[in-house]
Amino acid sequence: MYNPKSMKAEEFIDHAEVLDTLAYADAHKDDLALVDQILDKARQRKGLSHREASVLLACDDPQKTQEIYDLAHQIKKDFYGNRIVMFAPLYLSNYCVNGCVYCPYHAKNKHIARKKLTQEDIRREVIALQDMGHKRLAIEAGEDPVNNPIEYILECIKTIYSIKHKNGAIRRVNVNIAATTVENYRKLKEAGIGTYILFQETYHKESYEKLHPTGPKHNYAYHTEAMDRAMQGGIDDVGLGVLFGLELYKYEFAALLMHAEHLEAVFGVGPHTISVPRIKRADDIDPDVFDNGINDDIFAKLVACIRISVPYTGMIISTRESKACRERVLPLGISQISGASRTSVGGYCEPEPEDERSEQFDVSDNRTLDEVVRWLMELGYIPSFCTACYREGRTGDRFMALCKNMQIQNCCHPNALMTLKEYLDDYASPETRAVGDRLIQSEIGNVPNEKTRRILCERLQQIDAGQRDFRF
Ligand code: SF4
Ligand code: SF4
Repeated sequence: MYNPKSMKAEEFIDHAEVLDTLAYADAHKDDLALVDQILDKARQRKGLSHREASVLLACDDPQKTQEIYDLAHQIKKDFYGNRIVMFAPLYLSNYCVNGCVYCPYHAKNKHIARKKLTQEDIRREVIALQDMGHKRLAIEAGEDPVNNPIEYILECIKTIYSIKHKNGAIRRVNVNIAATTVENYRKLKEAGIGTYILFQETYHKESYEKLHPTGPKHNYAYHTEAMDRAMQGGIDDVGLGVLFGLELYKYEFAALLMHAEHLEAVFGVGPHTISVPRIKRADDIDPDVFDNGINDDIFAKLVACIRISVPYTGMIISTRESKACRERVLPLGISQISGASRTSVGGYCEPEPEDERSEQFDVSDNRTLDEVVRWLMELGYIPSFCTACYREGRTGDRFMALCKNMQIQNCCHPNALMTLKEYLDDYASPETRAVGDRLIQSEIGNVPNEKTRRILCERLQQIDAGQRDFRF
C-alpha cells in the first residue's frame, strides 16, 4: 500500500511501512558495514531515505554515533554556516474547539483564561515585539470557526504587516493555524505569509485519534493531508513537526521523513522547515503522564539524524527547550530559534495576572532577546533577522534549487550581517553592540565574492547612517 505519490494519508504514511522500517532498522543497527555505507551516502549531501535514516537512528555504536554528530555538524556548517535565524511566536487567540489531551487550550479546560487579541491589542503586541528587534513572527491560534475564522486571521496578518514603529517592521509572518481548505490556504498565500506550519503531533493514526478525541482535529486524514492542500493553494513553503513524547520517537522519525518524501514526490519540493518540539508542562497538562518522553541524548541524536537526512530543510527549536539544551543541539543542525517568547495571548505588552494566565506551555528559556543574541554571538554564531527570500520571490522550488547548488549562501551571509547590524544599531544594549560590531568586522572577510563584499561594506555604512531594509 505504501505509495509516496498517493494523496491519501494512510498510503503515504503507511503504518505497515513504518513498522517494516523499524524492524529493518532494528535488524541492521549492528551491521556496521551498512551503517558506513549509509553514512557515505549522507556525506554526499543528497539526503537519506526514511529506511536508511532509521538504521542510523537505531544504531547505538558510540563511534558511529559520533560520526553521525560530526557529519551533522559539517552539513550544518556547509549549508547554514554559523548563522541562526531569529523569530518570535505571537499568540492571537486561545479559543479552541478541539480536545487535544496534551494542550491546555483543549475545549474542556474551563479554568484557563480565554483571550483573543483585538486589532488594537495586536498593534500593541507588535510594537512590543518590534521594540525588542524582531522582524519575523510565527502567529498561532486555536481552531475555532466562530472566534478565529479565517477572516480574523487575515485581518491580523494585514495589521501586523502595516505596523511600522520607529525603525521596526515585521517583514515575514509565518502562520501556524489548524488544517484548513485549499481556498483558505490560497487566501493566506495572498495575504503574503511566509511558511505555513502545522505540527502533525503524531503520525501514529491510532494514537492520534486517542490524543484528539473530539473536534475537527480528530480527523487524521484531513490533518495529515493539510500540507497537500496548502501546496495546492499556492503555499510552497510548509513546515512539518511532531510533538515528541506522544508516541515512540522512532515511529515519528520514520513517518516524518516519509511525509517529507511525499511532498518531494508530489510537488517536487520538500518541507521548508522541520520543528522538533518536546511535550512540556502547562496549565492542566503534566508531561509525565505521557510515556514516550525522550531524554536529551536521544533528542540530540534525532536532531543530528534529521539534519543529515534532509540537509536542505531548516530546523527550528523553540524556547520550550532550556539554554543548555539549545546550546547542545545548535551545532547539530538547528537553523532557526525563537527568543524572548511569550506563549500567552497578549503576553508581550505586560505580564498576565496570576488568575488570568493563558500560556500554551511553560517556557524553559526565559532570557531577553538581547541576552539570546549576545549568547549566540559569544558562541560564535551570527544571529540573523533576515527575511529576504520570500520577499524576493525565492520560495518553494526556486528556493530549494538555490539551496541545493549552495548559491543561497551568497545571500544568507551578507543578509545576516546587515540585519544584525540593524538590530545592533536600533535595539541592542551597549555590551551586545560591542560584541556584535566586532563579530561583523571579522565576518566581512568570510564573504567570498569581492563585489558582494564591497556592496556589503557600503550598506553597513548606510545602515549606520540610518537607512534600513537592504537585502541580497
Ligand atoms: S493543540 Fe491546537 S488544536 Fe489542539 S487544543 Fe491546543 S490550540 Fe487547540
Ligand atoms: S537569504 Fe533566504 S535562506 Fe538565507 S537567511 Fe535570508 S531568508 Fe533565509
